[in-house]
Order: sequence, then C-alpha cells, then structure tokens
Amino acid sequence: MRKPLVAANWKMNGSDALARELTAALATVNLVNVDVLVCPPATLLHTLASTEQCLLGAQNLSQYTSGAYTGELSASLLTEAGVRFVLVGHSERRTLFAESDLVLAEKMQQAIAHGLTPVYCIGENLQQRQQEKTGQVLAKQLAAVYASHPEFIAKSVIAYEPVWAIGTGEAATPEQAQQAHAEVRQQLAQYDSKAAATVRILYGGSVNSKNATELFGQPDIDGGLVGGASLNAEEFLHICQSAK
Ligand code: 13P
Repeated sequence: MRKPLVAANWKMNGSDALARELTAALATVNLVNVDVLVCPPATLLHTLASTEQCLLGAQNLSQYTSGAYTGELSASLLTEAGVRFVLVGHSERRTLFAESDLVLAEKMQQAIAHGLTPVYCIGENLQQRQQEKTGQVLAKQLAAVYASHPEFIAKSVIAYEPVWAIGTGEAATPEQAQQAHAEVRQQLAQYDSKAAATVRILYGGSVNSKNATELFGQPDIDGGLVGGASLNAEEFLHICQSAK
C-alpha cells in the first residue's frame, strides 16, 4: 500500500562527478518497487534535473515567497529547477541554523503551496531519549505543523531521524525505530487517521547496506533517509535494493 522511498541527503558533500556516477549506477538496475530520491546541494540540482533514474529533492527552502533574502531559495525557484521534494526541519537545520517550529511550519506551507512534497524531519536527541521523552518530542514536532494543517499529512513524507544516530555509525535498532515510527503514525492519526495510514515514514540515522534490510523490513518503516552512505553510489544502490 505504501511504496517504499529511499532518499539520499548529500548535505554539503558530493560533486558533479558523483551525481553522474549515481545516475549511471541507478540505470543498471530496475527499481520498480521503490522510489529513489536524491537531495544534492543546490548547485548540483541541474545535473540531476533531467535524469529519469531518481526523483529530485532540495535540502532546504525559504519560508518567504520572494524578495530581498540574499542567499535564500524560494519554493518557486526550486520547482522551476525541476525539484519535486524538499527536506524541512532536518536536525542540522534545527540546531545549527536555529530553525524554530514556527519557521518550519512556514516552510511547510511554502513547500505545499508550490506543489513540492516536504520531507518533514523529526527526532529526539540523546538526552531526550535517556529521559524517556521521545514520544513527547515527536508529538510536539508533529503538532507544530499538522495540528493546524491536518491536510498537510497526505502531502508529506515524514523522516524519523533520532539525532543520536545521525552520522554516529550507531543506528537505532529495528525495534527502537519501529516503536518510534508506530508512535509517529499514532500521533498523526489524531489529526487524520486515513492520511496517517498512508503517509510514508522514513528512518534516518546511520543507515547502511548492512542494516537497511532489517530496518526497512519493519511494518511502519517505509524506507530511509541516508546521509553518509549515500555518498558512495554502489552502497546507496544496495540500500535502495534493500527496500521491500
Ligand atoms: P547519516 O546517514 O550520515 O547518519 O545521516 C543521516 C541524515 O542526517 C540524513 O538526513
């Protein structure tokens, strides 16, 4: 019912050569049962815009429509560049660039108003997990967007990325991830139960070709958001092939 989605988040990495290598690698396989999304740095969007091997995503967008916002990219600039998806609320944006729930709600509005599919990223940090506040944190992050706009759920992809698992090599166990994903789906169900059942929820945080099959095999995990391991074309291809 939910088609798996495997997404690459290159962050501030990659190159034109990697973009070409990846599309060449993807062309060697027939991935009919999985959607593949690549979110490269903005300067590489054009390299991937015309390929049929993957969907194209941006890593960020402005909360504003247009105007004097030096260095920013609006939703309409991104759509014109061929972008169809956009990451919103990645933990690095939340922490390193101080993006608040309020700003993220505005970004979600911009994305959806311009026909982009937002990949809304949520997740608890280590301290919050140790204090058993994971459920609370996820509920708050979801409420910031979906409490006032339940209709956005059907137009979104959600990515659960526990902060302690990002870039650490320490992925959540399949059980930990499944539990969080089920919690997310349950939280969303209070806003729109039908959309909660169909929305894709990706797991992110140290996904690699060794742990992907078991993670993606969990009932509420619909694919992954892959950082470091997506910078190797062969490794990323294996991860895509691990999606159920
Ligand atoms: P890693 O796969 O490098 O842990 O990064 C995860 C991530 O932040 C994807 O958005």
